[in-house]
Amino acid sequence: MKLILLGAPGAGKGTVAKLLTKMDGSVQISTGDILRAAVAAGTELGKQAEAAMKAGDLVSDDLIMGIMGERLKEDDCKAGYLLDGFPRTIPQAEALKVLMKDIGEELDMVVDIQVARDVILDRLTTRRTCTDCGEIYNVKSNPPKEEGKCDKCGGPVVQRDDETEEAIGNRLDVFNEQTAPLVGFYEKEGNLVSVDATTSQSVIDAITARLDANK
Ligand code: ADP
Ligand code: ZN
Repeated sequence: MKLILLGAPGAGKGTVAKLLTKMDGSVQISTGDILRAAVAAGTELGKQAEAAMKAGDLVSDDLIMGIMGERLKEDDCKAGYLLDGFPRTIPQAEALKVLMKDIGEELDMVVDIQVARDVILDRLTTRRTCTDCGEIYNVKSNPPKEEGKCDKCGGPVVQRDDETEEAIGNRLDVFNEQTAPLVGFYEKEGNLVSVDATTSQSVIDAITARLDANK
């Protein structure tokens, strides 16, 4: 399947994407993960992205399109992909449309994962992430078996730099201003599915029902 997962920070895009990859081998492509890996590795890309990320601002559209233009041409994308955290601005969505036309592909759907703001705030402040493999935990609902240590890979499980209260507030504002308008964009394109996401499983169910209906 080829999907875009839209939704505020903390809506559960990454969790949903990980569950979907297990269904049909589609690959999860998270621009946030790609950027965090670049920052950790200290590459040129990482240096360009670091300050904006730490503040909870967006990195430039040019930088993101450079990454995604390459990424979507890689072999593992043949099995399908779940775009997690991309596109995030109208210019990115426009550029993606051109890119997909160039490579002769079409999206199955764009899923808007809707979660109430207070739920999101609570989730983000209690979220912890493995810096090695990206696995996501929650100190209240899903802590690692051993505190601070990833169940999957043994890597360090920590609070992200951009998960301070100040950066979270900014990320939500940035989302409302720059990313929320994508809902209207994809509504016009005719492939938007809105899901009220109380649990990640309810999102998966809505997506599989829609994929079946499209067959
Ligand atoms: P979340 O969805 O939880 O906010 P991500 O891991 O998707 O977090 O992104 C973390 C940060 O990486 C963002 O706050 C932003 O600085 C940067 N980023 C990720 N994807 C994009 C994108 N498509 N456009 C611009 N910046 C991005
Ligand atoms: Zn891990």
